[in-house]
Amino acid sequence: MFSFQITHKDGSARTGVISTAHGTLETPAFIPVATRAAIKGLSAQQLKEIGYEATLANTYHLYLKPGDETIFKLGGLNSFMSWDRTTFTDSGGFQVFSLNGKLCDVDNEGVNFRSYIDNSSHRFTPEKSIQIQHNIGADIMFAFDECIHFNDNHQRTKEALERTNNWTVRCLEEHQKSGSPQALFGIVQGGRFKDLREESAKFIASLPFPGFGIGGIFGDPTKEIHGVVKYTLKFLPEDKPKHMLGIGSVEDIFDYVGYGADTFDCVLPTRLARLGYFFIRPESGGNITNKFRARISNSQFKENNSSLDENCSCFVCKNYSKGYIYHLYKVKELLFYSLMTYHNLHFYYVLMKDIRTSIKEGTFKILKQKWLVVSLVGSSNK
Ligand SMILES: [Zn+2]
Repeated sequence: MFSFQITHKDGSARTGVISTAHGTLETPAFIPVATRAAIKGLSAQQLKEIGYEATLANTYHLYLKPGDETIFKLGGLNSFMSWDRTTFTDSGGFQVFSLNGKLCDVDNEGVNFRSYIDNSSHRFTPEKSIQIQHNIGADIMFAFDECIHFNDNHQRTKEALERTNNWTVRCLEEHQKSGSPQALFGIVQGGRFKDLREESAKFIASLPFPGFGIGGIFGDPTKEIHGVVKYTLKFLPEDKPKHMLGIGSVEDIFDYVGYGADTFDCVLPTRLARLGYFFIRPESGGNITNKFRARISNSQFKENNSSLDENCSCFVCKNYSKGYIYHLYKVKELLFYSLMTYHNLHFYYVLMKDIRTSIKEGTFKILKQKWLVVSLVGSSNK
C-alpha cells in the first residue's frame, strides 16, 4: 500500500503526505538512518517521541547480520526493531560499491563483493537485492543501482548508467512477479553530467514506479551537481515523491526542497553526534560558516551551565548543561551518545517542520534566507 498527495506548493517546493501500511509521513521529511535496524544510541520509542514518522535501514548491513531471512522469521523490519511507523530500505548498492572500492567485481549480471565483517564472498544481483528487501519487508524499497564516484568521467558514468537502467528493469520485473505490497522506487543516476542525468530521469520516469530516488550525489564537495539535479528533476512526474539518497546538510536540504525534493536520508546528524558535534539553530548562532554546529569537546564548555542550544525544546536541552555533556564526553559515558543523538535528531525534526510550515504559508524563501543568509551575522554560540 502506497500513496502520495501534494498538499501545498510554494514555487517548486511542496508539502505532501506519503501513506504506507504503517501510517502517514508528512513531507518534506528527513528520514533518520537506522543502519543495522537501530538508530545508534536511541530506541525506536525515542525516535517516535521526537516526532519522526519514518526510518531507513541498510539492506547491505542487514543482509550480512543478522541476515534478511532471520528478520523475515521475526516478523519483518517493523516488528524486529519495534517501530510501528513507515520504513525504508536502500538497495545495498551504495554500501557494496563504496565499502569495497575497487575490490568489488562488477559485471552486467551483478556484483561480487567481500563482507566487511569476515571477508567472506558474496554476490548481489538486481533480483537478489529485491528478494532481500522483500524479506526485510520495509514499506519503501529502492532498485539496485551501480554506484560510482561522483568524480568519474563521462564514459565511465555512461557505462554505469546503462547497466543501472538494465538492472532497474530487472528489479521491477522481480518485484512485480512477487506480488509484494511494498513500494519500489527507481533511482536516477548519471553522475555530474546533465545529459546523462536527463537520459536517466527520462528512462526511470517511463517505468511504473510510485516514487524515485536521486542517487550519486553524496560526497560532492562542490555545488556543481545542484544545478544538474534541479534541471533533471523536471523530467520526473510532478505528482510522485522524490527521495534524495544520502543528502542531509542543512544547506543541501534547503536547496533540494526548493527544487521539489520530498524526502532525505543521511547519517550526518547521528554520526556527528557521536563525534561530539551538536547542531545549533540560527537564533543560537548557527550559520553556514559554522555549518550550524559546535563541538562539545571544546574545553570552554567545561563549566558552561547552559544547554546545547538555548532555543531547542528537546528533553536534553531542558535537562542537561553543556558542562555535564562535556564531562560525559571526556569520560566516554554511553549516555553521551544517546543525549547528543537525541538533540541532533530533534534539531532536524524541527528544521523540517519549520520548512513544511513555511511552504504552507508561502514563506519558504524567507525561511531559507533567514537560515542561509541573515544567520551569517548571528552571534557565535555561547
Ligand atoms: Zn536540544
